[in-house]
Amino acid sequence: MQESHEKALTDPIFSIISQAAEELGVECYVIGGFVRDYLLNRGTAKDIDIVAVGSGIALAEKVASKLEGNPAISVFKNFGTAMIKHDDIELEFVGARKESYHRDSRKPVVENGTLQDDQNRRDFTINALALSLNSHDFGNLLDPFDGIVALEKGIIRTPLDPDITYSDDPLRMMRAIRFATQLNFVIEPKSLQAITDNKARIKIISKERIVDELNKIMLCDVPSKGFSLLHKTGLLELILPELTALQGIEEIEGQKHKDNFWHTLEVVDNICKTTDKLWLRWAALLHDIGKAPTKRFHKKIGWTFHGHEFVGSKMVYKLFKRLRLPLNEKMKYVQKLVLMSSRPIVLAEEFVTDSAVRRLVFDAGEDVEDLMTLCEADITTKNPKKQRRYKNNFKLVREKITEVEERDRIRNFQPPVSGEEIMKAFNLKPSKEIGIIKEAIKEAILEGEIPNEHGAARDFMLKKGASLGLKK
Ligand code: ATP
Ligand code: MG
Repeated sequence: MQESHEKALTDPIFSIISQAAEELGVECYVIGGFVRDYLLNRGTAKDIDIVAVGSGIALAEKVASKLEGNPAISVFKNFGTAMIKHDDIELEFVGARKESYHRDSRKPVVENGTLQDDQNRRDFTINALALSLNSHDFGNLLDPFDGIVALEKGIIRTPLDPDITYSDDPLRMMRAIRFATQLNFVIEPKSLQAITDNKARIKIISKERIVDELNKIMLCDVPSKGFSLLHKTGLLELILPELTALQGIEEIEGQKHKDNFWHTLEVVDNICKTTDKLWLRWAALLHDIGKAPTKRFHKKIGWTFHGHEFVGSKMVYKLFKRLRLPLNEKMKYVQKLVLMSSRPIVLAEEFVTDSAVRRLVFDAGEDVEDLMTLCEADITTKNPKKQRRYKNNFKLVREKITEVEERDRIRNFQPPVSGEEIMKAFNLKPSKEIGIIKEAIKEAILEGEIPNEHGAARDFMLKKGASLGLKK
């Protein structure tokens, strides 16, 4: 007797689909991510894939007519698929199909097929698991490739020859690595080899698709797992050469620098323990990319990476553009964090003065906490004494930030005396003196000579004006 998994199918939607299929006289199954995640106890996914042995679109139409409120169907005729959004569930219907590929495209030639044909075309054995929705064997698991064993053992493998699977649709290489990272699975050696052999095929995949998978890896608990696999298979060098350029340790006259590639991956893992923000994680990934082009050796002082923050922040733009990442405020945020990534470190190494902290808050604005989070994640020293010292220093900087913020509210700095007030006070027309006075007020506040308050700033303005020879 087959074990039944009816428990996975208690949502009333499944009996509605079952009923609809029966009325149309087609067989249908739940397949893919929903089944996988259920069997892994990862909860029930909200996107559910249904295969009909027949027309997926006709089944979707029938299902929609049975659902309360007659939800709209999005039909993709070219793909033979249809989608229904119902409550918080997204149902995707497809007719069972057989696929064959051309070398220059990941879009297959499609013909109608059996359930088994449809399972053959799936990327991984753990994604080819199907549960029957047919009344005579409702809840039965159809597992032609021992996907369940792969689930138990934590293995990513392909239903067919991996060399063909990855070559047909190279996006699967990214997906394999993404699933391995998300589920903490191992990619079987044969598959890993096939990815390595087919890495150059990644060029036929759109940047958007690649970035989708990269972002999913970035949002995992331990993204370094994915990045090491990307590196090992040679994909990373094709996608993010700026990162692989950081790899390696050079030694001249007995002086070495650290391997900035593996250091970066450690920083990313660190930051993932404290933040879920995707773009802060990206900032961690890219914070040192300026180090490859700025690396120099000097006889007296050893290795330096002067200006790597500035160079790195310029590289962020090119990299975002190439990967079709957003070129909006998200990119600017990453650039800013890369540019400022050493500021709190310099601060923490010396005696922390109020004015230095005020300047940091002024420059970082509302991103100052994220910047601190990045710097704390950047501590990868294995020396426990140093580790403690750095952490303590950053704690001090954070305390000072709070203190200075309470007093002076520098974060969203607005000049306490406006240009108009200056013009009125000295009976001026728009002129460069106004700019000079405004800048002097800002400097006096940042230096702590006066508090960030209107009264004090006005007194200061009057004095400054007088010293410039202006008359009230
Ligand atoms: P998740 O939704 O968590 O990303 P998933 O496995 O549901 O995981 P989807 O992209 O939603 O992934 O795809 C649904 C199913 O479609 C997969 O489980 C798999 O069976 C199949 N599939 C998706 N993309 C591919 C592909 N590139 N090649 C072969 N089969 C695929
Ligand atoms: Mg899915």
